Amino acid sequence: MARHTGPVCKLCRREGQKLFLKGQKCYTEKCPVDRRGYPPGQHGPAQARRRKQSDYAVQLREKQKVKRIYGLQEKQFRNLFESASKVEGITGENLLVALESRLDNIIFRMGLAVSRNQARQTIRHRHVEVNGRVVDIPSYQVKAGDEVAIKSGSKNLLPVEASLESRTRPSLVDWLALDEKARVGRMVRKPTRDDIPLAVQEQLIVELYSK
Ligand code: SF4
Repeated sequence: MARHTGPVCKLCRREGQKLFLKGQKCYTEKCPVDRRGYPPGQHGPAQARRRKQSDYAVQLREKQKVKRIYGLQEKQFRNLFESASKVEGITGENLLVALESRLDNIIFRMGLAVSRNQARQTIRHRHVEVNGRVVDIPSYQVKAGDEVAIKSGSKNLLPVEASLESRTRPSLVDWLALDEKARVGRMVRKPTRDDIPLAVQEQLIVELYSK
């Protein structure tokens, strides 16, 4: 599936906020959002000056923001939304839980990669096991109780070591457990909306897709 291969900082500038897509570098390098806090492109400054946004624009930007944080393409995101809407409960929350349960996100949240992008690469290169079997699909849905590990032979992989030693590494969320030395973690329980440290209004995404 085609991925965004251009400069990721443009995505943050488009959303007008830091999405921390470059992992550690976001803390150590100058952030373009601080220096040029308007959307990229010729009409960026004019767009920033426009005060009132339509409801549709607000909903669209919220959806794009979440999609970009997790690094999904529109079709993947839409499919996940469709599945979330079929599950019992609040669709917006179901969507966020499904996004959080993706294997690439789990690797990132465990601190085994500095960004979801790097986590995806680690998975694609077959360095990750779920319940003792290699899984090379970043979108794989991890379930409560599943063991997620860097496979033996890849335990000392440079990006994994660098990520674990990173000073800017976020603290481990309490629905995940990790044995750092062994590079083995577990999803202790399914996360709830309150467990997801993301300042987004998922209801706006539901409204957008329900039109
Ligand atoms: Fe976004 Fe990080 Fe680039 Fe800042 S440095 S614009 S937070 S990706």
